[in-house]
Amino acid sequence: MPKNYMIGNWKMNQSLSDIQNFFSQLKLENNQNNFWITPQSVHISECLKHAPATGVLIGAQNCSHEDFGAFTGEIACRSLAEIGAHFTLIGHSERRSLYGETDQDVNQKAKKAISEGLIPVICVGETLAQRDNSQTLDVVLSQVKNALVNIQLHNESEIIIAYEPVWAIGTGKTATPQQAEEVHAQIRNLLIELYPDHGAEISLLYGGSVKPANIKELLSMQNINGGLVGGASLKPESFSDLCKAC
Ligand code: PEP
Repeated sequence: MPKNYMIGNWKMNQSLSDIQNFFSQLKLENNQNNFWITPQSVHISECLKHAPATGVLIGAQNCSHEDFGAFTGEIACRSLAEIGAHFTLIGHSERRSLYGETDQDVNQKAKKAISEGLIPVICVGETLAQRDNSQTLDVVLSQVKNALVNIQLHNESEIIIAYEPVWAIGTGKTATPQQAEEVHAQIRNLLIELYPDHGAEISLLYGGSVKPANIKELLSMQNINGGLVGGASLKPESFSDLCKAC
């Protein structure tokens, strides 16, 4: 069985006092290193001061595919690993749509993250126009395939895939559990094809307006192994409830 995860994506939110408040009020049960938070990069070290008491692991929202050098504003994977980051999101739809990240960038970043010991959480998902044009599976499967070009895995926990329909992110519109499962099942088949030894065990998360009220139904689907959550991860009460369901 793939491991279940609950990952909070704080995006460009939370002040220092919000962070202290969040970790002091978090109530997690049965934490098996599967509750993760990704704050702004400038706050990773602050989160790492508070998170160990709760067992939450901390990661980044983005990384560079380069080692080091003249890349102003970029964040090196090795530096993230050195300060104690555990994972990095890659290819979030906001990175793709606002900053022009391509499938090739996602692939290069994923390779670099793995080589530095970070777990890439690779985000994929279709826009509303693509869904309306019946292109969902084509778009999502090609994003997954392109993200994984020339990536060999030694075990199933080296990568996580997050399916996040763009039309469901931050909109309050969640995919129905059936809509999400239809896509997850096809991603699962592709992963088994690409990685016969590990594909059945790679965790597949759903993201897009996940909240305590809808998480149980989503998690009841065979190929949904947790959530990538924006808005509902900002408050300790709702993130605690999401983790409990997970
Ligand atoms: C996200 O940022 O990845 C996300 C899914 O956001 P929200 O939960 O707010 O829709």
